[in-house]
Amino acid sequence: MQKVTVVGSGIIGLTAAIALQESGFTVRILAKDQWESTLSRKVGAVWFPYAIEPKDKSSLWAATAYHRYKSEEGIAAGVSFIPFLNAYTDEKKEEWVNELPKGTVRKATQEELPMGMEKGFIAEVPLAEPPLYLPYLLEKFLAQGGTFEQKTISSLSELAALDGWVINCTGLGAKIICKDRDLHPMRGQILRVEKLDVPSFADPTRKGALSYIIQRSQDCVIGGTDYEDDWNEEIDPEDTTRILTRLKGFGINSDPKLLEIIVGLRPKRSAVRFEFDPDFPNVFHNYGHGGAGFTVAWGCATELAEILKKAQMRN
Ligand SMILES: Cc1cc2nc3c(=O)[nH]c(=O)nc-3n(C[C@H](O)[C@H](O)[C@H](O)COP(=O)(O)OP(=O)(O)OC[C@H]3O[C@@H](n4cnc5c(N)ncnc54)[C@H](O)[C@@H]3O)c2cc1C
Repeated sequence: MQKVTVVGSGIIGLTAAIALQESGFTVRILAKDQWESTLSRKVGAVWFPYAIEPKDKSSLWAATAYHRYKSEEGIAAGVSFIPFLNAYTDEKKEEWVNELPKGTVRKATQEELPMGMEKGFIAEVPLAEPPLYLPYLLEKFLAQGGTFEQKTISSLSELAALDGWVINCTGLGAKIICKDRDLHPMRGQILRVEKLDVPSFADPTRKGALSYIIQRSQDCVIGGTDYEDDWNEEIDPEDTTRILTRLKGFGINSDPKLLEIIVGLRPKRSAVRFEFDPDFPNVFHNYGHGGAGFTVAWGCATELAEILKKAQMRN
């Protein structure tokens, strides 16, 4: 069974497809949407392990992904490393620090901390700008002989009936396909604005008020919200006001020039589903990456390719 069908064209599907090609499989991608219409297209996307479980696995995946991005720096469109400050309250619980290579992270000085922030770590972390990186990945996949087909899958049995091994990378779409009661949205509203002259940072210390700034090559992303079980995909003007008010609270008083307001639903689960299906042994599930799909994608993709190579040898 050398053939693999990857279902999903977001960051999880594209990285899985390429890692499998690199391991010698013949891969096609099948998805309801082109990459432009995925959640992955809409977001930051900085290397930041946020709202993802289980911690032990996601730490390993994030560390693998960090090194993959390092190897792609200056080669892959949209991939760069940026200085990023992460606020924390309890140093011992700060997993971010342990996932970064030794010697690459340090405590922020008082002068470096935005107003109102008490403690923070700073490190250079990967940034994978989706409007550049996702088409780069798709083109690479196609150039290596991959094919893409637009199709909607409505059930697990339909998924399992596809060609060869089937990798389910459908993000929140898996809720319907797999009737997965654990999978739920964590709603994020963000503002895409013209570049600001301030450093990138995240303050994830207040639940419901996830705040961050990500400086990208052409624009800047200001976050955000992290509302559990909120299916609202409409822009909420009150959230926009809250985000801008919090920005001022950090001592950033320049009025950002708004380019776009974006809403996305993070595919959240008590644990990423990363396993063969118990009833359909040709199906492997790879979904539920919460707020960290870009952060862990290459880690999952690399491990998946290893698992499939071993399964292939047993068959
Ligand atoms: C506001 C916000 C900011 C974020 N910022 C970051 C960040 O800075 N760093 C980071 O690492 N993560 C971030 N995330 C999280 C990240 O965006 C997600 O974890 C990631 O995009 C999930 O990728 P995915 O490929 O699983 O899903 P998606 O991008 O949603 O792709 C799912 C794919 O499955 C397909 N599909 C779905 N249903 C079906 C079906 N029935 N049949 C066929 N195909 C189907 C879709 O068409 C699509 O191609 C953020 C999320 C939000 C909401």
